[in-house]
Amino acid sequence: MDTKAFKRTLQHSENYNRKGFGHQAEVTTQLQSEYQSSLIQEIRDRNYVLESGNVTIRLAQAFGFCWGVERAVAMAYETRQHFPTEQIWITNEIIHNPSVNQRMQEMAVKFIPVETGKKDFSVVETNDVVILPAFGASVQEMQILHDKGCKIVDTTCPWVSKVWNTVEKHKKIDYTSIIHGKYKHEETVATSSFAGKYLIVLNLKEAQYVADYILKGGNREEFLQKFAKACSAGFDPDQDLARVGIANQTTMLKGETEQIGKLFERTMMQKYGPAELNEHFQSFNTICDATQERQDAMLELVQHDLDLMVVIGGFNSSNTTQLQQIAFERGIPSYHIDCVERIKSGSAIEHRQLNGELAIAQNWLPAGKIVVGVTSGASTPDKVVEDIIEKIFTLKA
Ligand code: SF4
Repeated sequence: MDTKAFKRTLQHSENYNRKGFGHQAEVTTQLQSEYQSSLIQEIRDRNYVLESGNVTIRLAQAFGFCWGVERAVAMAYETRQHFPTEQIWITNEIIHNPSVNQRMQEMAVKFIPVETGKKDFSVVETNDVVILPAFGASVQEMQILHDKGCKIVDTTCPWVSKVWNTVEKHKKIDYTSIIHGKYKHEETVATSSFAGKYLIVLNLKEAQYVADYILKGGNREEFLQKFAKACSAGFDPDQDLARVGIANQTTMLKGETEQIGKLFERTMMQKYGPAELNEHFQSFNTICDATQERQDAMLELVQHDLDLMVVIGGFNSSNTTQLQQIAFERGIPSYHIDCVERIKSGSAIEHRQLNGELAIAQNWLPAGKIVVGVTSGASTPDKVVEDIIEKIFTLKA
């Protein structure tokens, strides 16, 4: 499929909207009352530190709702207001946050059902409205919806679209896109649908494996097996790694994306020589500012003497997991939770471990005076952070 031409056609269709419906003022008031918090504002005003009894809360200087998420949620609210009686669907969670997704359901915005791992679009009818979430949708999904003639409200974050444009550029000049991301993540699924040849690497270790293959060759079968779910159809490591470009899932660790870019630049320089580098390697900066700011703030926060960290965000939120990883690497006891209900008591907390499994940690809240670092992922409303901080104050009172 000519994905670029399809996108152009879609964007010119009268059934397509990516700018909202002019109800911003009403929606802003509603969002403020539902998601904002006076306690969090107070902590911001106090230079991100608040003491109560024997607890000091240190909040990261950048955390929570990013611009792209705020925009997507506002557009979803506007859509409900603009189409009060129509059936409204969303192709996936609008953002990775359980409380926001719960609100969507209360507003009768339904998720496209998933049957045996596949989305069932047969439920969508011509006059329905379908919202595409902040991290986008695959070009195949967009085509199904366009063909059905339903109304599409596209809340894809412009930073994500920027990555799509990057992989389109790679495709045009016949470069393979090396995408730093998680092959199952909706954003990466969408990005790879716009790419020509692609290979998804999860981390620096996988990138190093690919770089070694480029320089020294290796076991082709092992390579194909390792990336079986993470490459384009018919991918051939002996042919398709001669010209590569870098792209990323916008919420991966910024430092790691940069290291992966540099690794491939060095690899291609070593293999083809500096004069030929531009014929074999392309890199565009597609790291989202919000992800970068939250990670930088976390790196600053962990410099302080913290007794523990609470990292708040949806369990399928990639950027929250990256924040948790920073605390983990510093050896700080850190708990990734998605809502206040995970705090069972002062001695038990249910949290998501880095391997994705849930666990109950005992005696998580130390006795005596403590300093607790707090941050939240880009899809977490301040209200959720407030509830958790208040719970900690109560348990320690
Ligand atoms: S984290 Fe970045 S790319 Fe993702 S929605 Fe927010 S601003 Fe957009």
